[in-house]
Amino acid sequence: MRRAYGLLAVASAFFLACTSGVRVHAQTSTVAASKFAYTGDDGPAFWAESANAPACAPSPTGRQTPIDISRAVPDRQLAPLNLDLEQTSVVLSNPGYNVRGVPAIGQELILNGDPYKMIEFHFHTLSEHTVDGRQGVMELHVVFLDEDTKTQLAVIGVIYKMGRPNPFLQKLLVHGLPQKSTSPHIQVGSIDLSKAFTSTSRYYTYAGSLTTPPCSPTVQWFVLQDWAEMSPQQFQTFHDVLGNNFRPLQQRNGRVIRKTAR
Ligand SMILES: [Zn+2]
Repeated sequence: MRRAYGLLAVASAFFLACTSGVRVHAQTSTVAASKFAYTGDDGPAFWAESANAPACAPSPTGRQTPIDISRAVPDRQLAPLNLDLEQTSVVLSNPGYNVRGVPAIGQELILNGDPYKMIEFHFHTLSEHTVDGRQGVMELHVVFLDEDTKTQLAVIGVIYKMGRPNPFLQKLLVHGLPQKSTSPHIQVGSIDLSKAFTSTSRYYTYAGSLTTPPCSPTVQWFVLQDWAEMSPQQFQTFHDVLGNNFRPLQQRNGRVIRKTAR
Protein backbone atom coordinates (compact mmCIF):
# COMPACT_ATOMS: atom_id res chain seq x y z
CA MET A 1 0.00 0.00 0.00
CA ARG A 2 2.80 2.40 0.85
CA ARG A 3 4.78 3.59 -2.08
CA ALA A 4 8.00 5.47 -2.13
CA TYR A 5 8.47 8.45 -4.39
CA GLY A 6 11.99 9.56 -5.02
CA LEU A 7 12.90 12.51 -7.10
CA LEU A 8 15.81 14.53 -8.21
CA ALA A 9 15.13 18.20 -8.24
CA VAL A 10 17.03 21.37 -8.78
CA ALA A 11 17.58 22.80 -5.34
CA SER A 12 18.71 26.17 -4.19
CA ALA A 13 18.35 28.42 -1.21
CA PHE A 14 15.37 29.92 -2.96
CA PHE A 15 13.68 26.69 -3.89
CA LEU A 16 10.33 26.79 -2.17
CA ALA A 17 8.31 23.67 -2.24
CA CYS A 18 5.43 23.82 0.22
CA THR A 19 4.37 20.43 -0.33
CA SER A 20 5.09 20.57 -3.94
CA GLY A 21 8.23 22.03 -5.35
CA VAL A 22 7.03 25.43 -6.46
CA ARG A 23 10.00 27.49 -7.43
CA VAL A 24 9.24 31.02 -6.38
CA HIS A 25 12.63 32.58 -6.87
CA ALA A 26 15.16 31.22 -9.30
CA GLN A 27 17.90 33.76 -8.94
CA THR A 28 20.60 31.26 -8.25
CA SER A 29 22.11 28.75 -10.58
CA THR A 30 23.37 26.53 -7.78
CA VAL A 31 22.33 23.01 -8.65
CA ALA A 32 22.36 20.30 -6.03
CA ALA A 33 20.91 16.84 -5.81
CA SER A 34 17.79 16.84 -3.70
CA LYS A 35 15.95 13.68 -2.94
CA PHE A 36 12.99 12.89 -0.78
CA ALA A 37 10.40 10.21 -0.39
CA TYR A 38 7.75 9.19 2.12
CA THR A 39 9.29 5.85 3.05
CA GLY A 40 12.71 4.24 3.28
CA ASP A 41 16.13 5.85 3.35
CA ASP A 42 14.87 9.09 1.84
CA GLY A 43 11.78 9.18 4.09
CA PRO A 44 10.70 12.12 6.26
CA ALA A 45 13.09 11.34 9.13
CA PHE A 46 16.03 11.76 6.74
CA TRP A 47 14.98 14.79 4.70
CA ALA A 48 17.52 17.06 6.40
CA GLU A 49 20.28 14.92 4.89
CA SER A 50 18.79 13.25 1.84
CA ALA A 51 17.18 16.43 0.57
CA ASN A 52 19.87 18.72 1.96
CA ALA A 53 17.16 20.56 3.91
CA PRO A 54 18.33 21.34 7.46
CA ALA A 55 15.03 23.06 8.35
CA CYS A 56 13.28 19.67 8.12
CA ALA A 57 15.19 18.33 11.16
CA PRO A 58 13.41 18.27 14.54
CA SER A 59 14.31 21.22 16.75
CA PRO A 60 12.96 22.40 20.12
CA THR A 61 12.42 25.84 18.63
CA GLY A 62 11.11 24.70 15.26
CA ARG A 63 7.74 25.58 13.73
CA GLN A 64 7.29 22.63 11.42
CA THR A 65 4.06 21.42 9.79
CA PRO A 66 1.93 19.34 10.06
CA ILE A 67 0.80 19.24 13.68
CA ASP A 68 -2.20 17.91 15.53
CA ILE A 69 -4.73 20.72 15.89
CA SER A 70 -6.00 20.76 19.45
CA ARG A 71 -6.53 23.21 22.31
CA ALA A 72 -7.19 26.00 19.79
CA VAL A 73 -7.82 29.40 21.35
CA PRO A 74 -10.97 31.21 20.13
CA ASP A 75 -10.11 34.67 18.81
CA ARG A 76 -12.90 37.11 17.93
CA GLN A 77 -10.46 39.29 16.01
CA LEU A 78 -10.06 36.63 13.30
CA ALA A 79 -12.10 37.78 10.30
CA PRO A 80 -13.41 35.56 7.49
CA LEU A 81 -10.69 34.91 4.90
CA ASN A 82 -10.72 37.70 2.35
CA LEU A 83 -10.52 35.84 -0.95
CA ASP A 84 -10.85 37.30 -4.42
CA LEU A 85 -11.41 34.35 -6.73
CA GLU A 86 -12.41 34.28 -10.38
CA GLN A 87 -13.51 31.54 -12.72
CA THR A 88 -10.34 30.18 -14.32
CA SER A 89 -8.83 27.33 -16.25
CA VAL A 90 -6.26 25.22 -14.41
CA VAL A 91 -3.29 23.20 -15.63
CA LEU A 92 -2.74 19.95 -13.74
CA SER A 93 0.72 18.43 -13.63
CA ASN A 94 2.59 15.83 -11.60
CA PRO A 95 5.97 16.85 -10.14
CA GLY A 96 6.65 13.24 -9.21
CA TYR A 97 5.09 13.11 -5.78
CA ASN A 98 1.88 15.09 -6.08
CA VAL A 99 -0.82 16.42 -8.37
CA ARG A 100 -0.47 20.15 -8.77
CA GLY A 101 -2.95 22.65 -10.19
CA VAL A 102 -1.90 26.07 -11.42
CA PRO A 103 -4.65 28.60 -12.19
CA ALA A 104 -4.36 30.62 -15.39
CA ILE A 105 -5.84 33.74 -13.84
CA GLY A 106 -4.60 35.45 -10.69
CA GLN A 107 -6.50 34.55 -7.55
CA GLU A 108 -5.93 36.55 -4.40
CA LEU A 109 -6.07 36.31 -0.66
CA ILE A 110 -5.86 39.60 1.22
CA LEU A 111 -4.18 39.18 4.61
CA ASN A 112 -3.88 42.18 6.91
CA GLY A 113 -4.24 44.40 3.85
CA ASP A 114 -1.45 42.63 1.93
CA PRO A 115 -2.24 40.85 -1.35
CA TYR A 116 -1.15 37.21 -1.58
CA LYS A 117 -1.36 35.58 -5.01
CA MET A 118 -2.40 31.96 -5.48
CA ILE A 119 0.53 30.11 -7.02
CA GLU A 120 -0.77 26.55 -6.95
CA PHE A 121 -2.76 23.92 -5.15
CA HIS A 122 -2.04 20.24 -4.50
CA PHE A 123 -3.16 17.24 -2.48
CA HIS A 124 -2.00 14.82 0.20
CA THR A 125 -3.44 11.38 0.96
CA LEU A 126 -4.06 10.92 3.83
CA SER A 127 -4.44 14.32 5.50
CA GLU A 128 -1.30 15.92 6.97
CA HIS A 129 -3.00 17.84 9.78
CA THR A 130 -5.03 15.93 12.30
CA VAL A 131 -7.70 17.50 14.50
CA ASP A 132 -7.86 16.20 18.06
CA GLY A 133 -6.04 13.15 16.78
CA ARG A 134 -8.40 12.48 13.88
CA GLN A 135 -6.88 12.13 10.43
CA GLY A 136 -8.80 12.87 7.26
CA VAL A 137 -8.49 10.80 4.09
CA MET A 138 -7.09 13.68 2.03
CA GLU A 139 -5.98 17.29 2.42
CA LEU A 140 -5.96 20.07 -0.16
CA HIS A 141 -3.34 22.81 0.16
CA VAL A 142 -3.95 26.07 -1.66
CA VAL A 143 -0.74 28.08 -1.65
CA PHE A 144 -0.60 31.88 -1.73
CA LEU A 145 2.58 33.97 -1.95
CA ASP A 146 2.96 37.45 -0.46
CA GLU A 147 3.24 39.78 -3.45
CA ASP A 148 5.45 42.22 -1.54
CA THR A 149 8.06 40.07 0.17
CA LYS A 150 7.86 37.12 -2.24
CA THR A 151 8.94 34.94 0.68
CA GLN A 152 5.99 34.69 3.07
CA LEU A 153 3.34 32.14 2.21
CA ALA A 154 -0.23 31.60 3.34
CA VAL A 155 -1.68 28.14 2.80
CA ILE A 156 -5.33 27.21 3.16
CA GLY A 157 -5.85 23.57 4.08
CA VAL A 158 -9.05 21.64 3.46
CA ILE A 159 -9.37 18.22 5.10
CA TYR A 160 -11.63 15.58 3.52
CA LYS A 161 -13.61 12.77 5.04
CA MET A 162 -15.22 9.90 3.20
CA GLY A 163 -18.77 10.67 2.08
CA ARG A 164 -20.59 12.01 -0.94
CA PRO A 165 -18.86 12.68 -4.28
CA ASN A 166 -17.20 16.11 -4.25
CA PRO A 167 -18.25 18.25 -7.25
CA PHE A 168 -15.07 20.36 -7.23
CA LEU A 169 -12.83 17.30 -7.25
CA GLN A 170 -15.01 15.77 -9.96
CA LYS A 171 -14.22 18.73 -12.24
CA LEU A 172 -10.53 17.91 -11.85
CA LEU A 173 -11.04 14.19 -12.29
CA VAL A 174 -13.05 14.43 -15.49
CA HIS A 175 -9.97 14.18 -17.69
CA GLY A 176 -8.10 11.87 -15.32
CA LEU A 177 -5.12 12.85 -13.17
CA PRO A 178 -1.53 13.11 -14.44
CA GLN A 179 -0.17 9.75 -13.28
CA LYS A 180 3.54 10.58 -13.17
CA SER A 181 6.04 13.32 -13.80
CA THR A 182 6.34 12.43 -17.47
CA SER A 183 2.56 12.51 -18.02
CA PRO A 184 1.29 15.30 -20.26
CA HIS A 185 -0.15 18.27 -18.43
CA ILE A 186 -3.92 18.35 -18.31
CA GLN A 187 -5.88 21.50 -19.01
CA VAL A 188 -9.08 21.78 -17.00
CA GLY A 189 -11.60 24.24 -18.38
CA SER A 190 -13.35 26.96 -16.46
CA ILE A 191 -13.61 26.15 -12.75
CA ASP A 192 -14.65 28.12 -9.70
CA LEU A 193 -11.94 27.66 -7.09
CA SER A 194 -14.18 28.96 -4.32
CA LYS A 195 -15.98 25.62 -4.64
CA ALA A 196 -12.85 23.95 -3.30
CA PHE A 197 -13.47 25.44 0.13
CA THR A 198 -15.86 24.73 2.93
CA SER A 199 -16.67 27.80 5.05
CA THR A 200 -13.76 30.26 4.90
CA SER A 201 -15.24 32.03 7.92
CA ARG A 202 -14.34 29.13 10.17
CA TYR A 203 -10.68 28.16 10.41
CA TYR A 204 -7.71 27.41 12.63
CA THR A 205 -4.54 29.41 12.12
CA TYR A 206 -0.95 29.00 13.29
CA ALA A 207 2.64 29.66 12.23
CA GLY A 208 4.18 26.68 10.45
CA SER A 209 6.25 25.52 7.51
CA LEU A 210 6.26 23.84 4.13
CA THR A 211 5.60 20.12 4.58
CA THR A 212 8.17 19.02 1.99
CA PRO A 213 11.83 19.95 1.67
CA PRO A 214 13.10 22.59 2.19
CA CYS A 215 10.52 22.75 5.05
CA SER A 216 10.93 26.55 5.19
CA PRO A 217 9.26 28.04 8.29
CA THR A 218 7.58 30.76 6.28
CA VAL A 219 3.95 29.67 6.18
CA GLN A 220 0.91 31.05 7.98
CA TRP A 221 -1.53 28.15 7.96
CA PHE A 222 -5.30 28.44 7.69
CA VAL A 223 -6.91 25.04 8.13
CA LEU A 224 -10.66 25.13 7.60
CA GLN A 225 -12.68 23.82 10.52
CA ASP A 226 -15.36 22.17 8.37
CA TRP A 227 -14.19 19.05 6.58
CA ALA A 228 -15.17 18.48 2.96
CA GLU A 229 -16.47 15.17 1.68
CA MET A 230 -15.25 12.92 -1.11
CA SER A 231 -16.47 9.55 -2.33
CA PRO A 232 -14.51 6.32 -1.86
CA GLN A 233 -14.08 6.19 -5.64
CA GLN A 234 -12.66 9.73 -5.76
CA PHE A 235 -10.33 8.90 -2.91
CA GLN A 236 -9.12 5.79 -4.70
CA THR A 237 -8.37 7.77 -7.85
CA PHE A 238 -6.25 10.29 -5.92
CA HIS A 239 -4.57 7.68 -3.73
CA ASP A 240 -3.63 5.56 -6.74
CA VAL A 241 -1.57 8.50 -8.01
CA LEU A 242 -0.35 10.06 -4.76
CA GLY A 243 0.29 7.01 -2.61
CA ASN A 244 0.81 7.96 1.03
CA ASN A 245 2.33 11.41 0.55
CA PHE A 246 1.67 12.85 3.99
CA ARG A 247 4.42 13.99 6.33
CA PRO A 248 4.21 12.65 9.89
CA LEU A 249 3.11 15.00 12.68
CA GLN A 250 5.77 17.41 13.92
CA GLN A 251 6.48 18.86 17.37
CA ARG A 252 4.19 21.71 18.34
CA ASN A 253 6.81 23.37 20.54
CA GLY A 254 4.40 25.54 22.49
CA ARG A 255 2.84 27.18 19.47
CA VAL A 256 -0.58 28.74 19.93
CA ILE A 257 -3.29 27.69 17.48
CA ARG A 258 -6.06 30.26 17.19
CA LYS A 259 -9.53 29.63 15.82
CA THR A 260 -12.30 31.86 14.58
CA ALA A 261 -15.05 32.39 17.11
CA ARG A 262 -18.28 32.80 15.17
ZN1 LIG B 1 1.00 20.45 0.84
